Amino acid sequence: MPAIDSAQAYARIAGVTKKFGDFAAVDNVSLDIRRGEIFCLLGGSGSGKTTLLRMLAGFETPTSGTIHIDGADMSTTPPYERPVNMMFQSYALFPHMSVERNVAFGLEQEGVSRERAKRQVAEILDMVKMGGFGARKPHQLSGGQRQRVALARALVKKPKLLLLDEPLAALDKKLREHTQFELISIQQRMGVTFIVVTHDQEEAMTLGTRLGVMNQGRIVQVGSPSDIYESPSNRFVADFIGSVNMFEGQVLQGGTDAVRIDCAELRGTVRAERTVACANGATVWTAIRPEKIGISRQQPGGADPAENLVRGTVREIAYMGDMSIYLVQIDSGKMMRVTLPNTMRGRERPIVREESVWLSWHGSSPVVLTE
Ligand code: ATP
Repeated sequence: MPAIDSAQAYARIAGVTKKFGDFAAVDNVSLDIRRGEIFCLLGGSGSGKTTLLRMLAGFETPTSGTIHIDGADMSTTPPYERPVNMMFQSYALFPHMSVERNVAFGLEQEGVSRERAKRQVAEILDMVKMGGFGARKPHQLSGGQRQRVALARALVKKPKLLLLDEPLAALDKKLREHTQFELISIQQRMGVTFIVVTHDQEEAMTLGTRLGVMNQGRIVQVGSPSDIYESPSNRFVADFIGSVNMFEGQVLQGGTDAVRIDCAELRGTVRAERTVACANGATVWTAIRPEKIGISRQQPGGADPAENLVRGTVREIAYMGDMSIYLVQIDSGKMMRVTLPNTMRGRERPIVREESVWLSWHGSSPVVLTE
């Protein structure tokens, strides 16, 4: 369970469970969202992300546990009295209203004068680069423009906490990447705390100051994007985030500087430095990212031939432009995935399919997982 630092916590979720009948959609989650950060909730379909977001917004009531926002207990606070706004997956724009009226709607509901509302709407539309589109109706906009109007509408009331449910899901890849950076820049200018739900890990890594990975209603790891990628705390996270080569094995020697693991699937030994100490004989898993593996025709010089080295045959190569993916069948029959950046154009004699190769990696590359 993540430590809760009350000095930094803007939203604090403590032991929250949400049951639908007997089924726990959110299962004893404790989470601390810091003021001014972009926190991404990442997880597969049905892992409980939206349910958690809806409880923060007040659209669902926890079965047990508490939610505090800015120090205040939200147990009896209705959605419209929370310092929170939610941007829905569908954007939920009013189709018959102009962009300006869509954005002004919430302000007018709150009794803000027409003049003031007009000024605030103009300001926020400029901020999301939709200044010239105020008179248009939603159907006269592109997907990306609609997304920005929805964002303007969510931001115009200056919420302290903005909840975004798959905010960029409707955009194509290129526009999504561009909009991710825009979203970060708007968030920084306004100083609003964002909680973003996404199932897209690249999006979470790009947007998030920190990520919370969810599985079956539970938070399984919280950390910065690099913590989560480089130091996953369990097999689920290692496998869910990015690609990984994972081997089960038994600890031969469990020192504090390095652990040696006998891996039958590798027909060899993995030596992992700077890892958790484990007991000799324990069953563990070792995870090695594809970009941390070297591939060569010759046995690499200097490497200890007894560890972190394996032979195989290249079965597939996928050229991706910036990098290539090699699927290598090692002598035990298992497939390993290796990625290499394409740094040189027309590299001499590239490795081709069906070639025999050596795969090797540094002792700092493998992560040892005990669960
Ligand atoms: P997705 O990425 O697919 O939107 P999610 O992680 O946001 O998924 P939730 O929408 O939070 O997942 O749903 C979590 C689980 O709770 C799912 O199994 C879902 O079927 C269930 N669930 C959600 N709302 C209800 C409800 N009102 N009644 C019964 N079950 C529900």
